Amino acid sequence: MTYVERVLENLKKNNPNEPEFHQAATEILTTLAPVVEKHPEYEAWGLLERFVEPERVIMFRVPWVDDKGKVQVNKGYRVQFNSAIGPYKGGLRFHPSVNLSIIKFLGLEQILKNSLTGLPIGGGKGGSDFDPKGKSNREVMAFCQSFMTELYRHIGADTDVPAGDIGVGGREIGYLFGQYKRIRDEHVGVLTGRGLSYGGSLARTEATGYGLVYITEEAMKARGDSFKGKTVIISGSGNVAIYACQKAQSLGAKIVAMYDSNGYIYDPNGIQLDVIKDIKEVKRGRIKEYAQRVKGSKYTEGCKGLWSIPCDVALPCATQNEIDEQSAKLLVENGVKYVAEGANMPSTLEAIEVFQKSGIVFLPAKAANAGGVATSALEMAQSSGRLFWPFEEVDKKLKDIMVNIYHNIDNASKEYGYEGNYVMGANIAGFIKVADAMLAHGIV
Ligand code: NDP
Repeated sequence: MTYVERVLENLKKNNPNEPEFHQAATEILTTLAPVVEKHPEYEAWGLLERFVEPERVIMFRVPWVDDKGKVQVNKGYRVQFNSAIGPYKGGLRFHPSVNLSIIKFLGLEQILKNSLTGLPIGGGKGGSDFDPKGKSNREVMAFCQSFMTELYRHIGADTDVPAGDIGVGGREIGYLFGQYKRIRDEHVGVLTGRGLSYGGSLARTEATGYGLVYITEEAMKARGDSFKGKTVIISGSGNVAIYACQKAQSLGAKIVAMYDSNGYIYDPNGIQLDVIKDIKEVKRGRIKEYAQRVKGSKYTEGCKGLWSIPCDVALPCATQNEIDEQSAKLLVENGVKYVAEGANMPSTLEAIEVFQKSGIVFLPAKAANAGGVATSALEMAQSSGRLFWPFEEVDKKLKDIMVNIYHNIDNASKEYGYEGNYVMGANIAGFIKVADAMLAHGIV
């Protein structure tokens, strides 16, 4: 049994009932085999065993009172996975599906993603099984205050800097920051994705979606291609999906479908993003309203059908494992040329295999959606320097970072003899920097 196989076997044995964590670890470790072979010191220093074990896992009770005066209790999590190259950094997810396995898979991915940005940020992730959907503002505030009343003691501008993720947007970050500041009496960059009036950065809201399109555009450019005239489908209709749609449209693409967790809309004339933004950002409504408001569009209950719509580019931007093997086959049969992951781990291992065998361009999440955390790191830099950069400056830095990521993963895939395999390229390029730092720090 190889070193990688042994580490994976032990991980599965020691962390039972954590399928998402196993999935992410399998994807990462199996692609690292050629690097591990080249560096026997990794095994001697127990590097992989340490890499897959979080430095710290914090789990806590989050009690709060709902609008009916009833006491509610949720679970809170923060996994501080790896601080070798910088303070822990990664979002908070509020969604009923959240559990330790999901937070650990996200945290593990985050280490390599953050490394790929080229910025000094370690990996972490957190969240709760709290569902903000259908809650009043007061209930969301009560929950966020209770969550931060425990979390504050574990985070700090130089220790651990959380951000948003599914279910955690500007409103939630505001309530979390307010409570942190009240307890600590410190106005510092301890959370990113903050509002512009209290330390946020321009272009952070747009960053993940824009970054996803920038890296895809660079992959297209390398092949003499562009977004112009391309038919695109996007899953989700949240933060990442909306701004991916906006940037792709501005480059001449036609987005024909999007979804939320209830169903998808198909608009052969091209999605009207202002209608989506009004439904999702302003009214916090359901996507099916789009079909009532826009003539010629159609709503279908259930999400899976989205992947059967013929397209040139697919941008999964909702959640993990939304593309299974069957959906991947459908996409390929219908002529997809580029799949770039805006969401974290939206493709199953089987789906990734289908994409890679078909020879299409597949850009994995840790490279493709790194623009969000990269811009969070730019927000941290502005906070530390007490600065506020113009939109164009942040956007240019974001674009440069995404272009660099593309070339780094492309070069790594070539260097190790797997040209065009960007899963390997991203894992290897991200890992080497973290491994170097871990070796430098000794056994810690
Ligand atoms: P949002 O909460 O803003 O939006 C999530 C979207 O996905 C919503 O449309 C939601 O539908 C949909 N969705 C959630 N769960 C499911 C499900 N089980 N089935 C179908 N649709 C679902 O989150 P974000 O846009 O911020 O995040 C989306 C993805 O991008 C996540 O994987 C996240 O980890 C990743 N990501 C986000 C970053 C960021 O900066 N925000 C950075 C990097 C990655 P509904 O409205 O019905 O819930």
